[in-house]
Formats: sequence, structure tokens, C-alpha cells
Amino acid sequence: MKRRDFIKNTALSGAGLAVGSTIVSCSENKSKKTETEVSSISKASLPLVIATWHVEAATAKAMEILQAGGNALDAVEQGCKVEEANEKGQSVGKGGLPDRDGNVTLDACIMDKHGNCGSVVYLQNITHAVSVARKVMEDTPHVMLAGEGAKQFAISKGFQPEDLLTEASKKAWEDWKVKSEYKPIINIENHDTIGMLAIDKNGDISGACTTSGLAYKMGGRVGDSPIIGSGLFVDNEIGACVATGLGEEVVKTVGSFLVVELMRQGKSPQEACEEAISRIVNKPNSNYKNFQVGYIAVNKKGETGHYAIHQWFSMTKFHDGINQQIQSDFYVKA
Ligand code: ASP
Repeated sequence: MKRRDFIKNTALSGAGLAVGSTIVSCSENKSKKTETEVSSISKASLPLVIATWHVEAATAKAMEILQAGGNALDAVEQGCKVEEANEKGQSVGKGGLPDRDGNVTLDACIMDKHGNCGSVVYLQNITHAVSVARKVMEDTPHVMLAGEGAKQFAISKGFQPEDLLTEASKKAWEDWKVKSEYKPIINIENHDTIGMLAIDKNGDISGACTTSGLAYKMGGRVGDSPIIGSGLFVDNEIGACVATGLGEEVVKTVGSFLVVELMRQGKSPQEACEEAISRIVNKPNSNYKNFQVGYIAVNKKGETGHYAIHQWFSMTKFHDGINQQIQSDFYVKA
């Protein structure tokens, strides 16, 4: 589906879900309407999964796991793997657009309900970066592995090395080289970093994200996606957030952590995403007209939010049997 065909739907936050006694008191500033909506929806409404962009196959995979009683961590890993394996998606895993030298380098991270996390940066030749990130989390005393070390670790865990540069991505890179214009591309079709957040039947939250990063980036460049707190943050008592877009701007404002902290202070996921975007665009001399950043977030109650600087960002949400892409509201209206 092309961007222009997207359903224009500015329903900004989904219906809430009550999570019984696990609800954390972060609601002092919430409107009465929100409280009523939330309390009228039962725990039976769980599970829930949201993801950046238009990735219904990925959210369907995650939901399959959640419906079968699986946990949110397995759901987000398996969901992200769907897009990593999808060679047509040129921003993630196999088929990702390369750096300016033609190397496909991947960044990914994952975070669980206990606050454990793992990430890989500048990983080459391994499609499922998100699964390597999970292995870093579970099988090492570290949080982050980079480059050749990350690749060798992956191979030691049984991952098969392969060439990630597909013919289509090679051709796109060769076309780019003609002009070699080094500037962020606001949306790569309908698909950039895949970030996914899930709440399982127990009400526990996990998140993951995976990307080949900025297309035609400098060799060695790492974005926000593997940086815990920037590309992703999960606090099982409050909620979670994941980012997409120009990673440098997300890192400078520690975006995902910011969104979760704003929710802790009582903002809804929607309000928190909007505030985090406003921190970027309202900086003195912000160049925001030339780059995109988008956030999606969920709180412990299952309320969701999503917001971006520019049009055409979207969130896919699978909840209550409906798996749909929802177009996001955005800052730059004219
Ligand atoms: N956030 C990613 C990065 O900066 C790229 C993207 O989401 O488009 O590497």
C-alpha cells in the first residue's frame, strides 16, 4: 500500500484497558473522561500490541503469541522478526538500505518487564538483530554489543551469517550515489524503524525495535534505536515508548525515556508523545522542517498514543480482534 492510500484516521488514542490491581497511580492530571473510559473496560480486553508504521503482519504475529498466553517479550521479538525477514522493507533487517559505502548495518534493542535490556549496534550480516539483542540481554552480563563483537557473539549463538544487501537495495544505493545527497529522508515509503510494544494477558509490558538506520548514513553511524531510553524505554509500572525517525534528534532529547517519564507525571500517552515532539521542534534553531521523528506509546492501562513532526507517520494497533493501521496526527500542518 502506498502512503497516499493510507486511511486518514486521526483517532489519537485507543480505548483504555484496565489492568485490575496493577494500575499504577499516575493519573492525577487525567481528565475525568479518560478515567471513565478506562474503568469501563475490563481486563478481558488484554492483550494489546502496537507498532510503528504499517506492519500488520508483524502485529498479527505478536498477537498470535499473546492470544496463546505467551508473554509480551516473546511477542515483540517475534513481531519484529517478521519485518526483519521481509526483504521488501528497506529499513529493517534483510534488504535494509546500506550506509554510503554499501554496507548494511543494523541496530536493535529489546527491554522486558523487569527493566532488563539488550542491544546491538552496527551489526552486519545477521538478519535477526532483535534476537541477537535478546541474547545479549539474557546470555551476557552486558547491555550492548557492537560491530564485529556483536556479529561473532551472534554466530556463537547459532545465527547464520548472510549477505543482507538485496538487489533492490543495492540498486537504490547505486542510484543514490549519482548525487550522493546526504540528508535525512523524511519517510522511507511507509516504513522505517520497526518499534513494537505489547501488553500480555498478565498486564506486563515489553518492547523492542530494529532498524538498518538512516539510509546512506556515514560508515560507523549509530542512531537512537539501540540506545535504551532514546529509541525505546519500558517501565512496567508506567508504560513504554518507542521512536522512529532521525535518531540524532531522538538521542538529544532522550525521547522514549522522556515520554515514559511524562506519563509517570500523569500525562496520557498521547499528551506525552506530543510533548516529546514539542521538545524537539521548539529548540532554538531547530531544523525540524527537514526531518521526521515519530513516537508511539502505551501506558499500563492500555491507553495508546502516537504523534510525529510530519504527516504520514502511522501506528499499527492490534486490539480486541482488530488489527489496523492508524494514521498519526502531526505537528507541521502547513
Ligand atoms: N531511528 C532510526 C535511526 O535514526 C531510523 C528511522 O527510524 O528511520 O537510525
